[in-house]
Amino acid sequence: MKVSRRGFIKMTGAGAACLTLSRLGIDLGPAQAYAAGLKIEGSKEVISICPFCSCGCNTLVHVKDGKIINIEGDPDYPVSGGGLCAKGAALRSLHVSEKRITKPMYRAPGSDKWVEKDWNWMLDRIAQKVKEQRDKDFVLKNADGLEVNRLESVFSLGSSQMSNEECAVAHQSLRSLGLVHIDHQARV
Ligand code: SF4
Repeated sequence: MKVSRRGFIKMTGAGAACLTLSRLGIDLGPAQAYAAGLKIEGSKEVISICPFCSCGCNTLVHVKDGKIINIEGDPDYPVSGGGLCAKGAALRSLHVSEKRITKPMYRAPGSDKWVEKDWNWMLDRIAQKVKEQRDKDFVLKNADGLEVNRLESVFSLGSSQMSNEECAVAHQSLRSLGLVHIDHQARV
């Protein structure tokens, strides 16, 4: 029988502890009743990966009635040993947080209010602002007369929710505009 590290710890640790406690005459009924009431009881456990950085820590995702009810580190994953950093520990909120913004929101210069806009309006606005900035600040040659073709007044912060292919397209588009300041949320 193949036994995972987690399974082995469960079997040996929990088994030995139960045996010892029951030999001491301690009633395990209340503890067993508590365990039966855990929120992951009856859920399906799926191994997944935290998408936030290239460490790619494994996660255990518990699914019940088609909904994610818990996400935690995978103790069998050798890199993190079951640990997750603050971003990984908050992973479930990616799926279920009512605070997650799902529509484009715009705050006009000087305003203290966010207003919902549709995607066409927002993409036109972004394109217009990028063009204005590029027309104003694009540098063809540096002080030594060398051709540099760069735009230093626009910064791009990428998203760890993008796939490799999306990152490649975004990177090529940004470089074609002359951007040199490009970073990624996973380094934050
Ligand atoms: S963001 Fe944190 S939990 Fe996620 S893969 Fe990176 S180190 Fe692991």
